[in-house]
Amino acid sequence: MESLDWTGMAKTYSVDVQTPDSASTANALFSGFKTTWSTAGVTAKVDFRQNCESFPEEEKSWQNEINEGKSDESVAESILVKAKKQGKKTALVTSTRLTHATPSAVYAHYSDRWHEKSGDDDFCPSIARQLVSNARFFDIIFGGGMKNIGPELDRLSSPHKVISTKEELMTLNKTESYLGIFADGHLPYKTDRDPESDPSLVEMTIAALKNFESHEDGYVMIVEGGRIDHGHHANQAHKALEEFVEFDDTIETVLKHVNLDETLVIVTADHSHSFTITGYGARNSSVFGDATISMKYSEKYDPRYPGSFTKIQYAQSKAKEELKYNQPQEVTHDKDYLFPGSVSKRDVDHGADDVPVYASGPMSHLLVGTYEQSYIFTVMMFSLCLEEFESAPHCQ
Ligand SMILES: [Zn+2]
Repeated sequence: MESLDWTGMAKTYSVDVQTPDSASTANALFSGFKTTWSTAGVTAKVDFRQNCESFPEEEKSWQNEINEGKSDESVAESILVKAKKQGKKTALVTSTRLTHATPSAVYAHYSDRWHEKSGDDDFCPSIARQLVSNARFFDIIFGGGMKNIGPELDRLSSPHKVISTKEELMTLNKTESYLGIFADGHLPYKTDRDPESDPSLVEMTIAALKNFESHEDGYVMIVEGGRIDHGHHANQAHKALEEFVEFDDTIETVLKHVNLDETLVIVTADHSHSFTITGYGARNSSVFGDATISMKYSEKYDPRYPGSFTKIQYAQSKAKEELKYNQPQEVTHDKDYLFPGSVSKRDVDHGADDVPVYASGPMSHLLVGTYEQSYIFTVMMFSLCLEEFESAPHCQ
């Protein structure tokens, strides 16, 4: 990704929370609205609420509007839906459940990203149900989440072929639409994958690109390496970084397939994590190893020296206190090792940092500098000549 031409920084906070969740950042990226924490496909007019009962009567109208398929000031429509309406092909590809926070903001509208599966306490159609009813806006939908989506599939009215195996993925007919669900939950981590049966992010992305090859009017595709985040949430840096390498491999593959004279490629993160590399490790030493130089000096001069520790650290930690120090190399190099953090907690929280944006292709130069995350959406709309940019000079 570092070979892309232009770089910038995006500010990721939600309108009400300093450190964002993935649904609010997906809203900013894909619909151009900075929104309330943990809401999907709605604007900041809609608050995060646990259930319908907590809504004052006068605020319930937005749910009716969503249920009736209207698009008003509460509903955030994603760039994929907008592009499909203008005759472009669209693809949503993720390694998470398709009903998870980031993908959900692309097709669903819910004030609570956690209502993935239909249940008694839904106050809107569940996110899984909305995926099936809004599938018509997407030519390709690839990811996991059969447990949530399976019960809704008999409601599918669009002409998508539903596929669920790697074999089917590798033999797609180029002209048809596909809903590919390749796991019950998230797709397995790269470190845990069965390469015979589990598709990789690279394979799903190539399949989507091939489907678009002969379409003259262009396409919009979102590819999410969604499990990088999950590895970090679990203090499992091996998994997160292996996923990150695969994400980078996917970018390399995309760059080989597209013509940058006519295709805008943007690479970014929805948000940061509290993952850091610290402690003065020697150059060319394993990133999963100990902070050798830091330790050498601490051992000698610091009376509080607690023992050896890893370069990789998190803000929060699931690891037991006694396992944070003096772990042998073979232990810290295990793929399931829990890297330590300062505060004990069930899982690791996101970070509030600005995130980098890398871009090449038409209008990519507009992504230089530091800006709100929602600005990335505006640049994509401008580059695609959608809505108010239809008559821009480069669109004639
Ligand atoms: Zn997360």
